[in-house]
Amino acid sequence: MMSLLFATQNSHKVSEAQVILGPQWMIKSLKDVGIHDVLPETGNTLEDNAREKATYIYQRFGLACFAEDTGLEVMALGGAPGVHTARYAGPNAPPEVKMKRLLEELGSGTDRSARFRTIIALWWQEECHMFEGEIRGRIATMPAGTGGFGYDPVFIPEGYSNTFAELPPSVKAGISHRYQALNRIRQFLTARLRPA
Ligand code: IMP
Repeated sequence: MMSLLFATQNSHKVSEAQVILGPQWMIKSLKDVGIHDVLPETGNTLEDNAREKATYIYQRFGLACFAEDTGLEVMALGGAPGVHTARYAGPNAPPEVKMKRLLEELGSGTDRSARFRTIIALWWQEECHMFEGEIRGRIATMPAGTGGFGYDPVFIPEGYSNTFAELPPSVKAGISHRYQALNRIRQFLTARLRPA
C-alpha cells in the first residue's frame, strides 16, 4: 500500500479522496502527520492556489504531497463564484449562506448551467505536476439533500435529476470533479511506480 499526503485541512475532501483512490492507497491528511498550519491561498486562479498550497508543504516540510483547489463556475454569472467559491458571501459564511447568495444572484434565470472544476498540484520526485477534473451540471432552484459538503445541495450533475447531496456518496465518488482529477493522479503514479 502506498501512502500519499493530501495537503488540506478539509476532512470531507480527505474522505472523498480515500473512497475514490480505494484501499491500495492510504491518504494521509495534514492532521494525520501533525501539521496544523493554515495553508496560504492568495492566487487569482485555481491553478495558482493549488500550487501554492502544495508547494508550501513541500518546501517547509520536504514531504511529497498533493493539494487541490476547487471552484464552482456558473455560466450565467460569467464563471462566478469560481476561484472565490470558498469566500462567496464572506470568508466565514456557512455553506447555507453561500448557497443562498448563489440562488439570489441567479434569481429565476433559466440558464442554470454550471460546473465544478478541481485543480490538483502534486509534488512528486522534485517536480510539481498539475491535474484537472471537472463535472458539468446545473444549479437547483433550492437546496436539497444532506450528503456531501459545501455547495452539494444545489448542484445537480448532468444526467441526473438529484443534487450531489441527495445522491448516494458512491455516485458522487464515481463521477465528481475530484474523481476526475484524482483518477488522473492514480494513472500517473501507477505508470511511474511500475517496475521498468
Ligand atoms: P476550496 O477548494 O477548499 O477553496 O473550496 C472552495 C469552495 O468550494 C468551498 O466553499 C467548498 O465548500 C466548495 N467545494 C469544494 N469541493 C466541493 C464539492 O465537492 N462539493 C461542493 N462544494 C465544494
